[in-house]
Amino acid sequence: MARALEWKPERSNCPQLTITIEHLIRSVPDEWRALANNLFVGRVLKGDLNAMAWTERQAGVIEMNIQYTFTLSAYAAAYDEFFHNLKSFVGDVAAKRPGLESMVHELDKRFAEPWEQLDTARSGWVDRRLLVVANPVAARWAKGRESLHEDMVDAAESFVIAHELAHHLLGHTVSRRDKRKAKDAVDEVIERLGLFYAMSQFNQSQREELQADILAYLIVAQALEGAPQFSDLYRAVAGSTLALVTHAHVTESWVELDSAATHPGFTTRFNMVHKLTEMLCSDRPTGDQGDHPMAFLSQLSTFAAVALNRWASQTFSGPQKPVGVLHAADHLLRLMNEVHGRIPQARASIRQVDV
Ligand SMILES: [Zn+2]
Repeated sequence: MARALEWKPERSNCPQLTITIEHLIRSVPDEWRALANNLFVGRVLKGDLNAMAWTERQAGVIEMNIQYTFTLSAYAAAYDEFFHNLKSFVGDVAAKRPGLESMVHELDKRFAEPWEQLDTARSGWVDRRLLVVANPVAARWAKGRESLHEDMVDAAESFVIAHELAHHLLGHTVSRRDKRKAKDAVDEVIERLGLFYAMSQFNQSQREELQADILAYLIVAQALEGAPQFSDLYRAVAGSTLALVTHAHVTESWVELDSAATHPGFTTRFNMVHKLTEMLCSDRPTGDQGDHPMAFLSQLSTFAAVALNRWASQTFSGPQKPVGVLHAADHLLRLMNEVHGRIPQARASIRQVDV
């Protein structure tokens, strides 16, 4: 209560976003801090899933539309459901429970339910004139997992704000201002990933979006100075994926075929998340619990694949139905197997990994 009473709307009009931006400012190198300190982050009552960065005279502004946050909350709940349905299914298979085959139909219904709720809610979310507060998946929240769910939304908001902060740091919001240092950090990563040619194939605006994604990931992962800790990598992986999946599923921007579009599609942006995670940790051994950011990425990547598959099966004509729990589990286990084949010392601890 004392902290709440002391709070002043100096960096943001929202106490929670004040904490978020202050944390992000502490995550950037000292020499960028003056610019980062000169920012105001506003929660705005707008109905489209968006955030923006712009400059007014000397001050930088970041806007976060409240609809984006409400929607992130629904997808965080859907991810939680997805993960626990898969985990219990894989557990049942491993334990060779009797009658499993006849249960698959029942499990499929449970697996599909959050997606049906999200699909139904979409029509309200895409209407820019509306603010839809309700979380259609929230009723299913399992007790005891609320803080995990909040952490995910917090990580996704951090990534979105960091993406807008990155536009400021990279000089995308002003003309003729030298932002060499942030650009150098991003260029160095692009070179390490061997993506210079690939980047040149995008238009200027799309290239700036990918640069902002890269810098945002590095900021959230605390990877700008030294090797990041796993806990920060988990935040970067969860935050970026949840923010990108939510945006893609609501706006149906999975694949971008228009070369003049301002943003690349989900697949291009998520591919960057994958490459960054790989670059930062694929040569590191597993953590104390047999955990690893690449394994966590496999889980989120399967979630993204199921979301994309639902959209594709509804959009393109054909006999295909959305994938069920069996296919999703199979996909995840294949990814996990691939990941564990690459991580040093992971083979020995593979059984401990929380699928
Ligand atoms: Zn952007």
